[in-house]
Amino acid sequence: MCAKYDTVIGLEIHAELSTKTKAFCTCDASFGGDPNTHICPVCTGQPGALPVINHAAVEYAIRAGLALNCDINRYTRFDRKNYFYPDLPKAYQISQLDLPLCINGHLELSTGTVVRIHQIHLEEDAGKLVHDDYHGESWADYNRCSVPLIEIVTEPDIKSSEEAAEFVSKIALYLKYLNVCDAKMQEGSIRADVNVSLKPAGSTVLGDRAEIKNLNSFRSIQRAIECEIARQTEILDGGGKVIQETRRFDDATGTTSSLRSKENANDYRYFPEPDILAITFSEEDIEKAKREIPLLPQQRVAKYINEFGLTAEDARVLTSEKYLSDFYDEAVAVYPEYKSVSNMFQTELMRRVKETDSEELPFPAKDFARVCEMADKNTINRNDAKVILRIMFEEGGNPEEIAEKNGFIVVEDTAAIAEVVDALFKERPDLIEDYKNGKTNVFGFFMGQANRALKGKATPMTVKAYIEKKFSEV
Ligand code: ADP
Ligand code: ZN
Ligand code: MG
Repeated sequence: MCAKYDTVIGLEIHAELSTKTKAFCTCDASFGGDPNTHICPVCTGQPGALPVINHAAVEYAIRAGLALNCDINRYTRFDRKNYFYPDLPKAYQISQLDLPLCINGHLELSTGTVVRIHQIHLEEDAGKLVHDDYHGESWADYNRCSVPLIEIVTEPDIKSSEEAAEFVSKIALYLKYLNVCDAKMQEGSIRADVNVSLKPAGSTVLGDRAEIKNLNSFRSIQRAIECEIARQTEILDGGGKVIQETRRFDDATGTTSSLRSKENANDYRYFPEPDILAITFSEEDIEKAKREIPLLPQQRVAKYINEFGLTAEDARVLTSEKYLSDFYDEAVAVYPEYKSVSNMFQTELMRRVKETDSEELPFPAKDFARVCEMADKNTINRNDAKVILRIMFEEGGNPEEIAEKNGFIVVEDTAAIAEVVDALFKERPDLIEDYKNGKTNVFGFFMGQANRALKGKATPMTVKAYIEKKFSEV
């Protein structure tokens, strides 16, 4: 199929930083809390209150920038972006206009598209309005006012809705691995504005764009772009012109609608923030920030393949979420049988963690490692290992105790092995004849019968050795 238009997309992603305190005051920056309990004169813009920069927020922003291949501006400054909105009691937002912290980054997608990152700047979040349509009332909760945000602005390099969704999910994963953002989309810690335009296929001139604001799930990002492409295609096909404007996406109807005509930077009357000093960085500051960058997903993948000998697919699955990869790392730190732990992890844990939203396993990694080790060493059999993990998930408890309590610990009872196997050999002389005549598959019959009778008293390995010995004597 030969499409008539090329899709061009640029993203502005807002990510709330997971610092303990807010960007310019010491209020609690954590999500939730009773309305207006995490506020002070600074973050609610009382006259005369003075902001003080939170250095952790600056460090987090730089860490994100370095991981996304940005240059760090050695001299950076904050600006006031003036606008009035009921959830913004100061009537301005402290942001960065022309000297942002990070510039000129990039991130590559699985399609091979390299998305250039124009800049990453630090700014503050606004509050939240709660509308009670029934009583016709609106309430303002300022807890979120001044929570630090980074805004990641891409160049218009993204070519499809799938690429846009992949970019945002990759950014979310990176920020989690960097420990700078919890990336919980359902709590609004990541929101994206998408800019979409179409141009005649192959043309180098960009078309006029529409911006869709405040999308907060991968699915709505993808859907909003698709419906915007359809809308613009229809306009262009009919000989019309796309109006440069800000639109809103309605998840329920799956349509976009006009919100306002696009504002320009000069509508905001930006000016340098007079209450916060500009920041300068030395080479040492940057080097130190670089050293503090933890392993990113693709570096963990490389470690799993090269150092642990896992397959690329195993490595991909284990690193798909940071907390899973952390858990695996902790497990193999105490029991370094990489492949075996990975197998048990994938068959027994992945399914269950997918069923919950929690980003935490209900037991410590060392307990999981212990179950893997007991199964590998035949202290318990593999099926019982799975039962133990199920109990650990559902009821909690320590693996050894669960194994003891349920009689899963295998004791190598050699007398019992001899008794059971000897009896089988006596009962089935016909099969022994078969074996002598070359029908070696009867071995499986003896293994099956003996293991069933010896459940809990012997491991298959010792049973097998004993049966082999018996056959060598017949
Ligand atoms: P503004 O200052 O008007 O907000 P920017 O140049 O800062 O515009 O761009 C904002 C976002 O819009 C960026 O992510 C950019 O990549 C994207 N963008 C710019 N032009 C286009 C276009 N023609 N089509 C799609 N996205 C675009
Ligand atoms: Zn405050
Ligand atoms: Mg802009």
